[in-house]
Amino acid sequence: MSQIKSVLLWENQRRYIREAIDAGTLKGAIIPTGSTEQHNEHLAMNHDTASAVHVSKLAAQKLFPQVIVTTPLAIGVSEHWMDHKGTLTLRPEVFGEVLYDVADSLRRHGIENVLIVNGHAGNAGPVRERLDGFRERLGININFHSYWEAYTSELIKEQMESGVCPGHAAEFETAFGLAAFPQNVDWEGVDYDNAKLTISDPRQAESDRAYHHQAKLATAEKGEVMINVAVDWVAEKMREMIG
Ligand SMILES: [Zn+2]
Repeated sequence: MSQIKSVLLWENQRRYIREAIDAGTLKGAIIPTGSTEQHNEHLAMNHDTASAVHVSKLAAQKLFPQVIVTTPLAIGVSEHWMDHKGTLTLRPEVFGEVLYDVADSLRRHGIENVLIVNGHAGNAGPVRERLDGFRERLGININFHSYWEAYTSELIKEQMESGVCPGHAAEFETAFGLAAFPQNVDWEGVDYDNAKLTISDPRQAESDRAYHHQAKLATAEKGEVMINVAVDWVAEKMREMIG
């Protein structure tokens, strides 16, 4: 049977993709979108990209071999975090055009169901503004969701002691990191009160401090629960699209 070898596009040789498309076994694609940006003092800069890929991969595995996950957009729209050294940002129009070209590449290969799975809040506005235009220009079935849209307020209340989700590098994202890639969570030598922070917006400085303290409430167990809910939800969205 002609099918993909791995749900991650970049792990396949061309023959697997070609044969899966030709045989009609490959029915849809997920484009994960993330960021490379500050995640407070303890969480690695790739969190949004890594979490979007993680959810996308597990969701695609539930639908194997019908769905492929493309190379993620690992730099997002992060102008609001440029106070923090290391953050990389794209202008919204550049981000939008790169995303468009990835979706158009899929269309040109005959993949007409494309779900964008987002892991960085700053990307949501720029994509939502452009999505209807994408649909019109591409003529394919294309949708966009941040994976935390999966969470009901009841679930958040039940799982997050801080009551905050997604927040930023707070309890939720830290719990996700502890469950999925614990090496990304590094509290070693963190001394928030003496750190030389350069946050120009006082409201951001306040929320940064609050998120820092909320992050300490995170556990891998909470992360596991939240990841499973997001994976099932994304798989269902994709199943509807290819059904
Ligand atoms: Zn994040």
